[in-house]
Formats: sequence, structure tokens, C-alpha cells
Amino acid sequence: MAKAELMNYEKALEQFEVVIGLEVHVELNTKTKMFCGCKNEFGNEPNTNVCPICIALPGALPAVNKTAVESSIKIGLALGCDIQPTGRFARKNYFYPDLAKNFQTSQYDEPIAFNGSLDVEVPSGAVHNVLIERAHMEEDAGKLTHIGGATGRIQGAEYSLVDYNRAGVPLVEIVTKPIFGAGSEAPELAAAYVRSIREIVKALGVSDARMERGNVRCDANVSLRLHGAEKLGTRTETKNVNSLRSIERAVRYEIQRQAHILASGGTITQETRHWHEDKGATSAGRPKSDADDYRYFPEPDLVPVQPSKELIESLRASLPEKPADRRKRLAGEWNFSELEFRDVVNADLLDQIEETVASGAKPQAARKWWMGELARIANETEGEAELNITPAQVAELAKLIEDGKINDRLAREVLGYVLAGEGSPAEIVAARGLEVVSDDGALIAAIEAALANAPDVVPAIKEGRMQAAGQVIGAVMKAMAGSADAARVRELLIEIANKA
Ligand SMILES: [Zn+2]
Repeated sequence: MAKAELMNYEKALEQFEVVIGLEVHVELNTKTKMFCGCKNEFGNEPNTNVCPICIALPGALPAVNKTAVESSIKIGLALGCDIQPTGRFARKNYFYPDLAKNFQTSQYDEPIAFNGSLDVEVPSGAVHNVLIERAHMEEDAGKLTHIGGATGRIQGAEYSLVDYNRAGVPLVEIVTKPIFGAGSEAPELAAAYVRSIREIVKALGVSDARMERGNVRCDANVSLRLHGAEKLGTRTETKNVNSLRSIERAVRYEIQRQAHILASGGTITQETRHWHEDKGATSAGRPKSDADDYRYFPEPDLVPVQPSKELIESLRASLPEKPADRRKRLAGEWNFSELEFRDVVNADLLDQIEETVASGAKPQAARKWWMGELARIANETEGEAELNITPAQVAELAKLIEDGKINDRLAREVLGYVLAGEGSPAEIVAARGLEVVSDDGALIAAIEAALANAPDVVPAIKEGRMQAAGQVIGAVMKAMAGSADAARVRELLIEIANKA
């Protein structure tokens, strides 16, 4: 794949207005699939959660999952949408081996929810109101695995395997209206929008919302037009981008790629594109016209979904706090600076810190460990593997420090053992004898031993030259293998010097 030529980002924005549109697929965490009783579970042996309905044996008849409908309505309500009083399912016909029926059961002109909006805050602090066109219910396809090719793609593969466990898993697809006016922040807005959707569906409890598992995936549409032009430019749709960082990078890349083509007098091909995380680039997928003929028609095997007003109102009453309200509340409760709070949001650590504080840690201590040492370790492991530590364990660690049982250095050591699966911080401190030495007798002995090697220190302290103390404190910490409380060592040293 040859890397396309790109225009400098600032220059691209000087010449063109960016218009984006986002389609987010949310996999619902219902117990069973959308139209059959098969388990909706991740990670099972291939083709074990299948039945005549989801592998489309002749004569099998689907039935709608009631919980999936309620979850979809909740999502619609949380996005400020109107709920369709009578919504039919429709068949979207296409042939591909990941869908045994040769059509996807989806919704077409009667989506369950429509006409919503969502306020999305970008890292600069600006808030964009994103208009939601619709949210509709549909089913997921199975998973194809291509074997033998270099990159796991179908090109160059020797054969492909198909797993229908995911076929028929309930999805809600949320589609925005075209988003104008984000300017240079369009990539950040795209990522922040998907983060907000993820926060909402997580708060609603309707999805596991784990992007690395594909529970939330984004298709990002990008088009450019000259400033002042009325007609929208030709768009590309980068498919199935599954991390926030990748969404931001993919949108930025498309802006620069399209700007170069347009400025050189070329035209944009309306097509789907694939994002390659390793190369930091998109590549062409298949051409996609607006008139793609899926031969939609109403699904004859399913009755229309007609949620009663009472159901809608009871679901509305059950909605949790809105993510924007939650942030405002947490920012107040934690008393972080604006920058500290925004960093936490951008690092995606709100949940962890909230849970750590709920487990008894002080907000600043929770922030310090999640944003500091744990973020550093996560970075080193590329953030792919989830850290093997719970918020309650971080709170326990913070408490051990607060109580003077361990110091920061020991805490980092304990953290390493927690991540290695040795147990909770308190268990590890006990098992490995990592508590700080708070026995003054042992500390005084170590200080006196250190002073014997540094006869100038006592007179210096007596004269008020406190920097001389550092040498002895360092020697004591070293002698006690870091398990001394440096503040206490300092106090004792000053006492000893002043008595001498
Ligand atoms: Zn099934």
C-alpha cells in the first residue's frame, strides 16, 4: 500500500471546510441474540452459540428480543431522540459469507429513534452540539478470519474461517447529521463524540462498551469543500475504527489526503476506506454510491415494534445522570484544577478514579496513581492489555501510604506485585514484609551509623545549613533498603543534631 500524499494540516484547513459524519455501532449486552435464544457472549468456541434462526436454516422464524428493544429506546432517549411509535424491521439484502441469511435484519425508514442531539466537549474545552439523525436496531454479522495472508486481510489469504457466534447479536447504529463548523478540531470532535456515546451506553448499562472487543465501533465520514461553497464535497467512509485515538488519526489523515487530491485538481472517489493503525493511513475499500441498492423491504416475518407511551415514559424515568452532568458534578466534588480534570477525561480515566474515590481514596491520590504510575505502565504495554488492578486495590494502596505504613517507593514496588497477581496491596505488604520501618530505635541506630561516616553534618545542621541533612537521610534510606520513612528520618536527625 503506497502511502498517499498529504497536505500540511494547517494549510488544508486554510483552504477547505471539513464536514464529518459519524456512524457508531453499539453492541448490546443482552443475554440472548436479537432474534433467537442463542447466548450473546464474547469469547466462546466458534459456532457454539448458533441455532437454525441465526444460521438461517429454511423455515426458521425470528422473534424480537424485548430487552434489546428497551435498550435501544433508552439509547434513543439518552440522545434526546423522538421514539418511533410504530417501527418495522427491514431486510437489507447483500451477499457476504459472514451473514448466512444473505440479508441483514435492520431498520430502514422507520428507525426506533430519530432527531436527537448531543453536546460534546473537545479537549480545548469547546462544546459542539452534534445533531443525531437516527438510531436504529439491527443485527451483527458473523466474524470472518482470513488465514495465510500477511496482514490478516482477505487479500493474499489462502482460506477463510467463519464464526457465527456474533451473527444476530443486537446492535444499535447511531447516525449523526453532517457536522459542520468543527474546523481544525474535527478529528478531536470525532473521538470525543464516540467517547460520549460510549459513556452513555455504559452508564445506561446496555452495552459492555469495550472498544477493543468491538462493542463500540465507528465509521467516520469525511468530506471537504472550499470555504463558502454550498455543495457538500464527495465523502469517504473509513470503516470500523475501534479506538478513540485511531478515530482521531483517521479523520486527520483523510482531511490531509483529500486536501492534497482536491488542491492538485483531482476528484475524491466516494468509497469505503480501511484504517491501518500500524501505517497511520487509510486505504481504499470498495466504491460506495448513495444509490447502493440493498433492495430494502419490510421484514415479513416480524411484527412492527410498537412501544407504549407508558413503557417509553418509564424508561425515560430510569435514565441515569447525563455524562455532561456527571462530569460537572465530579469536577466539583474532586476539586481538581480545570487542566487536571480535562487530562483525566482525555486519558479516559473518569470511571477508574470515581470508583477509587468511592472505595475510600482521596481524589488527588486516586488521580496521582491512575494518571501517574499506572498510566506509565499501561503505556509501556501499549495500553492493549488491561491492567490487572481494581479501583478498590488502588484505594487500598493509597490508604497504606496515608497511614504511613508504606512510602511512595514501596508503594510502587507493591503495585508491581499487585499487577503480577500476587494479591491485594495489604496482603502483599504483609506477605513480603514491605512496611516502612517506623521503629524509632532502628532508625536512630541507622542515623548514628551514618553520622559516624559524616562528621561535618551535625555542626552544619546546628548552623542551620539543612541541605547537609540530605547526605545522611540518603545513607539511612539506602541502609534500610528504602523501607524507612524519609520524613521521620529527617525529624530524628534534626533532634539528634540539636541535642549533640
Ligand atoms: Zn441463534
